Amino acid sequence: MSDQHWLKLFREGVFNAESLAEHLDMTPGELPDKLNDAIADYPVRINDYFLNLMKEKGDSLALQVVPSAAETEQGVEAHFEDPLAEEADSPVRGLVHRYPDRVLLMVTTQCPIYCRFCTRKRIIGKPGIISTATIEAGIDYIRHHPEIRDVLLSGGDPLMVKDELLERILRSLRAIPHLEVLRIGTRVPGALPQRVTPELCAILKQFHPLYMNIHFNHPDEITPEVAKACALLADAGIPLGSQTVLLKGINDDPEIMKQLMHKLLTIRVKPYYLYQADLIKGTEHFRTTVEKGLEIMDALQGHTTGFAVPKYVIDAPGGGGKVPVSPQTLIGLSPEDAVIKNYEGKTYRYPQPKEPAQDCVEHPSANGNNPTPCER
Ligand SMILES: *Cc1c(COP(=O)(O)O)cnc(C)c1O
Ligand code: SF4
Repeated sequence: MSDQHWLKLFREGVFNAESLAEHLDMTPGELPDKLNDAIADYPVRINDYFLNLMKEKGDSLALQVVPSAAETEQGVEAHFEDPLAEEADSPVRGLVHRYPDRVLLMVTTQCPIYCRFCTRKRIIGKPGIISTATIEAGIDYIRHHPEIRDVLLSGGDPLMVKDELLERILRSLRAIPHLEVLRIGTRVPGALPQRVTPELCAILKQFHPLYMNIHFNHPDEITPEVAKACALLADAGIPLGSQTVLLKGINDDPEIMKQLMHKLLTIRVKPYYLYQADLIKGTEHFRTTVEKGLEIMDALQGHTTGFAVPKYVIDAPGGGGKVPVSPQTLIGLSPEDAVIKNYEGKTYRYPQPKEPAQDCVEHPSANGNNPTPCER
């Protein structure tokens, strides 16, 4: 019964030009050509829950999901279909092995909403890319690589997969002895919270340690339904983290970002990453400067609860992985001292310990007999 509820919400709402026009109060014929082009290249999906919330709350949600003519503009030459060069790090389709000990495994291209700024915009909502065969091949790759200790299920959104298949995937992974940690990266709890059912949680809790990172971009996304979904997940023992993309006109504001982080803590979600927007084709209108990200970090660090502060990262274009970027707090370093700057901009001196002498001098032990060897 509960399954039918979220499936109904998912299938209704906006999913093509006709339904988009209907909800934007125009006829499909009136859609500007460029908007039609944008939808043709990048499908649209705004499920009924998110659509209603968006109508109630306005632009901060609408900008994330309503297609824009700006998407068809080419943008800077350095913008890629695949900005993080994931394809180059994919030994099998749908699996990205970039870091030595962990992999990302895509299990679907479906999502509760299609974010217009998505890093995987090239595949989102498109059929025929991920299948049970590619998932099986990915799991097989993991099975044959004992150095992998952490698997991050991604996509698309892994929680859009039906319960039975998700359980089958998690069970196959848990049977691999060298896997320590399983993780799910998802936007479902914040964008289609009805999908988080007690049945789903009962499945997930069989596979601990299982972590979940949830995509949230704006405080308006945190509704009573979302709080309930996160409570179910947290009560199932799943440590919840958040991932936020820094987006122009949506959350590029220290106060909004602080509100978001505070609200996340109230629903037991611990801020994890704040991402600088990637260089994705058709998303230039969402990018902010790095200075803006640093300004936001400056406004958080020290001004609020330590664990309300996410790590600000740039996913290095071309496949360098996530690189933390932080405001400069170490302003001087010598063998004598470290000079540090606090959140109020005041400077402090931390004296270093004395360096051990270059040449090791034997010294007598306390009883004066046997000399103790030098410690290194
Ligand atoms: C983000 C990411 C991970 C996980 O990175 P953590 O910093 O460990 O959270 C793993 N693989 C790929 C390809 C990723 O993009
Ligand atoms: S939910 Fe995640 S994967 Fe899906 S479109 Fe949004 S950002 Fe991309």
